[in-house]
This record gives sequence, structure tokens and C-alpha cells, in this order.
Amino acid sequence: TDPAIIRNFCIIAHIDHGKSTLADRMLQLTGVVQQRDMKAQYLDRMDIERERGITIKSQAVRIPWEVDGQAYCLNMIDTPGHVDFTYEVSRSLAACEGAILLVDAAQGIEAQTLANLYLAMENNLTIIPVLNKIDLPAAQPEKYAAELANLIGGKPEDVLMVSGKTGVGVEALLDQIVHELPAPQGDPDAPARAMIFDSVYDTYRGVVTYVRVVDGQLTPREKIQMMSTRAAHELLEIGVSSPEPTPSKGLGVGEVGYLITGVKDVRQSKVGDTVTGLHKPAKESLGGYEDAKPMVFSGLYPLDGTDYPVLRDALEKLMLNDAALVYEPETSAALGFGFRVGFLGLLHLEITRERLEREYNLDLISTAPNVEYEVTLEDKKIVHVTNPSEYPTGKIAEVREPMVSATILAPNDFVGAIMELCQSRRGILGGMDYLSEDRVEIRYRLPLAEIVFDFFDILKSKTRGYGSLDWKADGDQVADLVKVDIMLQGEQVDAFSAITHRDKAYSYGVMMTGKLRELIPRQQFEVPIQAAIGARIIARENIRAIRKDVLAKCYGGDITRKRKLLEKQKEGKKRMKMVGRVEVPQEAFIAALSSE
Ligand code: GDP
Ligand code: MG
Repeated sequence: TDPAIIRNFCIIAHIDHGKSTLADRMLQLTGVVQQRDMKAQYLDRMDIERERGITIKSQAVRIPWEVDGQAYCLNMIDTPGHVDFTYEVSRSLAACEGAILLVDAAQGIEAQTLANLYLAMENNLTIIPVLNKIDLPAAQPEKYAAELANLIGGKPEDVLMVSGKTGVGVEALLDQIVHELPAPQGDPDAPARAMIFDSVYDTYRGVVTYVRVVDGQLTPREKIQMMSTRAAHELLEIGVSSPEPTPSKGLGVGEVGYLITGVKDVRQSKVGDTVTGLHKPAKESLGGYEDAKPMVFSGLYPLDGTDYPVLRDALEKLMLNDAALVYEPETSAALGFGFRVGFLGLLHLEITRERLEREYNLDLISTAPNVEYEVTLEDKKIVHVTNPSEYPTGKIAEVREPMVSATILAPNDFVGAIMELCQSRRGILGGMDYLSEDRVEIRYRLPLAEIVFDFFDILKSKTRGYGSLDWKADGDQVADLVKVDIMLQGEQVDAFSAITHRDKAYSYGVMMTGKLRELIPRQQFEVPIQAAIGARIIARENIRAIRKDVLAKCYGGDITRKRKLLEKQKEGKKRMKMVGRVEVPQEAFIAALSSE
């Protein structure tokens, strides 16, 4: 294909502003998806994406469009909007010349609108501002067109108005894409260079690698090479998604398509890597982008210990398709054999867990999530801790915790409430800007541990749903952190330990000892529950003793009844774990540890 008639673009927006719906209309209007095959959020292929109405994986589709009698070839890349999946967005942007910045005409600019706009600007993309959902009665197109024009520096009249739902304005938008976005540029005679922007494991076809060709061309049946590892692969198939995979005679400058090489693991076909020809390799690779880095760690354990091998296989399979997922085996005195798994954020954790349970028929317990701490001992040794039970017992010189820079957008009525919340989470105000008369952007630097868990929910409730949040990693910082241990009858239970800020240690101790007192049944003897920092006890509860004798109730007599009762008690014992002399039901561990 002649690069002059190619336009590569992506749609970026805050979550729920209508990217996937607009993509649907484009597929329909251009005839790539037949009316009868059309379903909402067509490109959201995973069950879980469809049920939750969110996009997790980016998708690339080739669509034809004609302007003034000239046929053009557009490559559209739909992207996820949630902050956990920003890394997916950044890969997609690198494959495009332009971006449609979509804003809900009833909501206005939100935190991910800004975050995505900045990403697009960093990638030097041409930006087409578009207001969506203008069919809504609550839409305020004039107001938000002015806000948007003000943000990217243009005229409000130039902001396009569309409805992904009714299709209004979508044809004009496609025309605008052809007119405004530059055609891709590259050297067709140079050695081939193509950038990998996504890599997906498919049960039937193996790893499918999505690429954007920058220079030269890739043709079927040639040998290719991954430039980072110099690993050579046979090219089994090459083609474009339109939107079903369609083999082609090759991919040239500016084209977006897929490769199948027969590798088994997405890590061998790494996102950000450059593909070149084996026989005429390029000298320099294209600048890659950073690997996704796990931010949140949680233990995943099968409820039924015999499911451990199933969980191991399931994680291995999921990892083939999710380069951001990392895990290693872990054992817990309380929960048995499991894995410590690293995630991009809580949504990523939730989705991974749900996929494991659903696609592999597992019942799992996930332990309270943790961030990664860097602990320096007095002998200068450095330990990275993602699990409180690994917290070093030696003399500690310094603990560093990961920080984020967060951007919060909200109507200005809520500024006070937002600042109060951020301050209580050890935040440092970075700055504040008015995007319009009544909408403020507030920037804070905060510890990651303070925002990944419940921060967003609290922000939502404090701003009556109007606040939006975006954050990105921003180095680390020394912090006054301590490990709180929980002891049953003087016996430390690793699984209940937590790393907290010193100011919050006491409330954790009180909360956990209280919870355990409720959860652990009374025993034949008294059981003290203590929370401690080192040797210092900071909270204490007591479970009073009980004389529990099941046989006492049946005054001699019926022997079979006695036997039944004994059997029943034995059954109950199986699901008990011993901590020293204390019997703790499995359920108590689960209730106390589970993140829900
Ligand atoms: P995404 O998260 O940006 O991909 O957003 P979706 O495309 O999944 O849309 C989010 C919600 O907004 C869905 O319930 C859509 O039906 C709805 N929606 C999207 N576009 C429009 C529109 O133009 N008009 C109206 N009224 N609703 C829309
Ligand atoms: Mg979507």
C-alpha cells in the first residue's frame, strides 16, 4: 500500500467517554463489520471486557474510507482508558501519527483525558479534539468545546461534535482524519524495521504479534529477527486485522498488521522490540518504550490445596498473554502453597483473579495487597520486600517506599475535601490549575501505598462522583515504616503481619486483633491475641476459655449418635490450622486476610 493513502490513529479518552462505542460506529459505517454481526463494543473480545464494559487490551483494525473519490486505508487502534492499563495506551500511541481526543460532552475533561493527551503530545501526535455523546440531553457542547480548545490551544468551533451512539458526525470525523493526520513516512528501500506494539497468545495460533512497519517491508515466509535478543524466527503468517485476521502479501511502510512466528510466549515477542529481516537486518532498532512494571503484590492461594498445580499452570498460561504479570511461588504457614503475584494495580489484580477463577475453575484467596519496599540494613545490604513476612529482622538503616504523582480533577467546590483527603494520606501538594471557571486540576505527590487501595473510592464519595484521578510512578522516598506482627498465644502468625506507616501501626493492630477475636472460636484455654512492633505490644485482645466437650451433651446411651458426633468433630478439625496450641479455622484466616 502506498503510504500516502495510509492514516494511523488511535482514540484516547477518559474511561467511559465512549471510545469503544465510537470504534463500533466506525467499523459499521465503513462496512468492515456487517450489520448482522454487529454487537456493542465489538472490539472488546474478552468475556470480562464485555461484562464490565471496559477495554483491557488494545485492538488494531484496518478500515477503508473514501474522500473525494480517493480510497484511503485507515488503521484504528482502540485503547483501554483505566489508569492500570496506561502502558497499553502508550504502546498504541507509538504506532500512530494522530490521536482522536474524545471527551464526553456531558462530563467534560477528566483526569485520564489529560494523562492521555500528555502521552500523545510526548509522542508528537497530531490531535483531533472531539466531543462525544452530543445526543445526551445533559450535554453541554459549547461549554466543553471551550474547555477543550483552551486545553490544546485551538478554537472552540474546530472541536468536532459526534455521537458514537447515533452515528452523528462520525463520517465528518473520518474525513477529518484523512485531511488532518500526516501520512506515515519511512524509507521503503531500507532494511525492514517494524515496532511491536502488542503481543497476544492465542490457543490455536500461538503468539500473534501486532506491528507497525516503519521502514522497508516484511514479506511472508522470510526469516525475521527480534533486534533486542537477535533471536531469529520463521514468519509463518503475516496479515492485517479487518477486523478478522486476513493474511496479506506483506506489510510495507506505515502499515499496521500482525505476524505469526510460532513462538509460544509473548515474552519472546516483546512489546517495544523492533522486528527486522534476518538476511538484511537493520543496524539500529527503533526506540522502544519501558516495560510495564508491577506496582502491587498479593499472594494468591487455592482454597483447596490440591488445586495448587492447576493454579501454577493457569498462571503460566495467563502470563503468556500478559507481559505485565509476574509471579513466584510462595508458602504461607496459614494458607499453604501459593504464589506472590505482581500487578499493575488493583483492577489488574481483580481481573487476573477473576480470569483465573473463571477460565480455570479455581477458588482463590488473595491476601491483602502490598507495594514494594526497599529496605537497607545497617550493613548496607538492600532487600526488596513485597510481602511483610520477608521484612528483615536485622538492624534497619532506612526504608524507602514507592511514590506517585497524582492528578485529581474535580469541580472547585470539592477542593477543600480533596486536599484534606490527600493530606491525611501523607500527600504533598504540587500545584493547582483552573481548567475552566469551575473545574480544577490538583496535583499531589503521594506514597503509592496510600492511593492504590481505597483512595479512589473515597475520592469518588467525597466529590459526589465528580472527582477523577490519574497517577504515575514517581520515584521513591524514605519513610517511617514499621512491621506490625500479630501473635496468638505468643506465637507469631506471619500471614497477619503488615508493613504500615508508624502513625497507622496502632490502628492496624487494633483492627486486626479485634477482627481475629471475632473470627477465632473459643478454645479449651485462654488465647491472648497481641499486635506488636518488635518486642513492644501495641494492642491486645483475649479469647476466653471454654470447656467444649461434645460428648457431654449425650448422657451415655446411644452409641451411634456418639460416633456421629465424633466423626463430625473430626471433619471440622480437618479445616483447622494449628498455631501453637491454638486451633484456627481456615475460614478465619480467609476472612482476616482476604482483600475484600
Ligand atoms: P470507553 O470506556 O471509552 O470505551 O466507553 P464505551 O464505548 O464503553 O462507552 C461507555 C458508555 O457510554 C456505554 O454505556 C455507552 O453505551 C455510552 N455511550 C458511548 N457513546 C455514547 C454516545 O454517543 N451517546 C450516548 N448517549 N451514550 C454513549
Ligand atoms: Mg472501551
